[in-house]
Formats: sequence, C-alpha cells, structure tokens
Amino acid sequence: MQHDILIRHGQVIDGTGAKRFQADLAVDGDRITAIGNLASHRGRTEIDATGCIVAPGFIDAHAHDDIALLAEPDMPSKVSQGCTTVVVGNCGFSAAPLTPRASYPLDFLLGDESYYRFPRLADYFAALEQTPAAVNSAALVGHSVLRVECMKELDRPASESEIAAMAQRLKEALADGGLGFSTGLEYPSNKAADTREVAALARLAGEAGAVFTTHARNYDHHFREALTEAIEIGRMAEVPVVLSHHQGDGPENIGHTAWSLPMIDEARLSQKVGLDVYPYNAAATIIDPAFVISASRILISSSQPHPEMAGRELDDIAAEWGVDRDTAALRLIPGGAIYFCQDEADVQRILAYPPTMIGSDGLPGGEINHPRLWGSFPRVLGHYSRELGLFDLETAIHKMTGLTANRFGIIDRGKLAAGAFADVTVFDPATVIDRATFTAPSEPSLGIRFVLVNGALVWRDGHATGARPGRPLPRRASVPSQSLSAPQPLSIANF
Ligand code: ZN
Repeated sequence: MQHDILIRHGQVIDGTGAKRFQADLAVDGDRITAIGNLASHRGRTEIDATGCIVAPGFIDAHAHDDIALLAEPDMPSKVSQGCTTVVVGNCGFSAAPLTPRASYPLDFLLGDESYYRFPRLADYFAALEQTPAAVNSAALVGHSVLRVECMKELDRPASESEIAAMAQRLKEALADGGLGFSTGLEYPSNKAADTREVAALARLAGEAGAVFTTHARNYDHHFREALTEAIEIGRMAEVPVVLSHHQGDGPENIGHTAWSLPMIDEARLSQKVGLDVYPYNAAATIIDPAFVISASRILISSSQPHPEMAGRELDDIAAEWGVDRDTAALRLIPGGAIYFCQDEADVQRILAYPPTMIGSDGLPGGEINHPRLWGSFPRVLGHYSRELGLFDLETAIHKMTGLTANRFGIIDRGKLAAGAFADVTVFDPATVIDRATFTAPSEPSLGIRFVLVNGALVWRDGHATGARPGRPLPRRASVPSQSLSAPQPLSIANF
C-alpha cells in the first residue's frame, strides 16, 4: 500500500497521556490514515524516525500571534518548536473584531496597526484562508477590543447599553467560530471593567459552548483576590475558565502555589477551571515603575530614549547613573523589560500540576524579547522533563496536545490516531532543548526533526520548508459525524 508520507520506526506518544509504543505512521492528504506495523507499506515521502518520538503537533495554548500569522506567515518561532496550532487573542487583545480606524490604545501587544482591519472574526479567518500561515490558528475574542469598539472612555466600567453593544459583537464573533472570550484585566484598556461587566460577557461564551480565558486583575500585591475573582466569574457566568499564565510575582508570592493550586483544586470540584503556564521564572512586558518593586532582577530589552541600554540590567544602569531603580526606570520609558519576579519552585509546581497546559505567551514582532517565544516547548521537553525529571515525556506532550485540544474543543487534533488531522512533530528525545536565552531570544531550538501541518512538511532538520498549510480553526458548535473526536461536552473531570 502506498501513502503520501510514511514515518517509520518511531516511538509514538499519542498525546492522550498514554505510554509510548513502537509504530509506523502513515499520512494521506491532510489526515493520518494508519498507525502500526506498516513494514509492507510504502510512502512517496519516507521519514526515518529511528530513535525519535513521533507526537501530535504541539498546540500553543497561549499565543499572541494574531498579526504574526499574517505578517510572518512562515511562523519560524513556532514551527521550529514543533508547534502546529496557536491559540491567539489572549489577554483581552485580538485582531478581530475591530473596525479599521486611525489609532488604537492597544497595539503595543500585537504590532502594526495596519493589520487591524477585520470588523468581524469571519473576516480575519477569511484573510488566513486567503494567505495561509505555516500553522493552524484558533482565536479568542478580546475584551479590550470590544471595549475599544463600544466605549468612548476606557477608564470606567461599561454602562448597560455599552455591555449590550459589546455582547452583540461578542455573540457575532462566537458565531463566527471564536474559541472563547479573553480578558487582560491588568491592562489600562481593560482594568476599569468591573466584575459585573466581565461576567455578563463571559456568560455569552459559556452559552455558546466556548471558554473564558483570563489574564487576571493582578499577579502581585492582590494576586489572591484576583484569582478568587477569576474563578468566581466562571461560577457566576457558568462558563469554563482558563487562568492565563498562572504565576505569582514578587517576594510576597514566593510559595504561592501552596495556596493557589489548592484553591484551583477546590474550584475544580464544582466548576470547570483550567490554566496555562510558560516555562520560565521571568515575565516580559512594558517598563513600568509599578512592576519594578516585585522583581529581583530586571533586564531592559528596549528603551526609546536610551536604545543603547537594551540588553543591560536595570541595577547596573541605575548604578552608572547614580540614581535608584525607580528613577532609572522612569528615564528609560517607554520601553520593554524582562522581570525576574517568579520563584522557580513555584514555576515547577505549576508545570507539574496535572490540569496545566503549556502556552508560550510569546510576544512576536515587538521590542519586548523573551525567550519563551522561541523556546517554550523544547524547554519543557528537554529541560523540565529530561534534565530535571519533573514529569515523563508522555505527560509533557499531553500538556501541549491532547489536554489543550480537549479544553478548547479543537476537533481531531492534539492526538495521533487514524482519522485525525496529520499535525505531527518528530523530535529526538535525547537532544531536544531550547537555545533561546534572555540575551539571544530568537535562537531556534535543537532536536525538532520534522513537523507536519495538515499533512505537509513545514520543518525539516533545522529549516522551515516554506510550506504554509495552516488553516484557521473556527470553533464548531457541533462535531461533524465523520469526526473521530465526537467529543462529549467536557466534564469537570476532564477539563
Ligand atoms: Zn496576559
């Protein structure tokens, strides 16, 4: 029997968390057609995976690639890591739905505003179909963009009529295939939204069978209240919650996992709560004196008034200038910085926590560079699984494939099975590792051998192939009958 692609002699880890097994894998068109002993079969393209793991393509549960998918469609930061699908629109910022206009108060996270031209989510998906990217994309609808569309001033809670206007936009976007509703309650465009406003909108996501992902109101001094509010909104609004980049910042939150993970455990007894995390103990965002206090080290990644300071430590700059940290930070804004503000033991506990999905939270295209954009997935596989033994590879892969697909309702992906889409990553478990660092954040990882998206090779031994077989993945209200997923509505237990 002849196939389009035959991957031979690999160890298959199927994404469900099940143990690996030796098997060949056949691909025809955009689907996996057989897994097993296929010694008598032939492939027009044959890949020798001896010594390698054959896994489902990784799903980045927390991406900000909304614009990058169109601006840099080869998506080297993601395919080089074995990622085949990105979940965009996180933290309240999404490329759609946004009516084109002169300026937005939000573009610092996503990039060039010439790309903000999608009044409906369906328009954004149509653009991705017309000029495909190398990876698939699923899209959340951001609260900040709804606020920008429907409110004149963003520094107050929305009125009832403004909530109704946002609700209309959100319903339309969910009907267009939005995966859920996201907030960024720490950001200026979103922080004035009160619990009532957020819950009224989050409820619509629940009604549509979608999810509520939330960058909470605070991650340092008021972290506990913010986490409580996020879980409470999910309960009030009857919507599954995904806690974005779960982390507690600053000295007062060292060891927070001793209470925050039990809080999530308790909530999970009666409602759907999940979370994502990036595998680093440093955050990256704008330079802001408010964030300076909570970090042990601060690395300046960019500064408009002092571009020569990029790549240097804030404390060294302050010493050179003979001023304190705050004063130095004020002189450097606007700009970007890396904040070493999290406890490594907490990061490891969150990574190992069974409901945790892996997301990069990588910010492409901007001046804020953090190695998580290029390194997150191989770092989990190579550093946290192989070097530190935090969990086995089966668990690591489940956290970046099957768990994520289940939680977001992404159909026929995130697992290797006959009938599933042929999103496949082949990597060497002995060598896979991130190479991106805080001073060289765009270094591709090692050990990712072959990556297939919808049955087409996008990465081969260290190089992008230039193929762009990615598709937008609108959420489906119902599952097609031929689907092997036929997913049950998620139970609390498997969310
Ligand atoms: Zn965020």
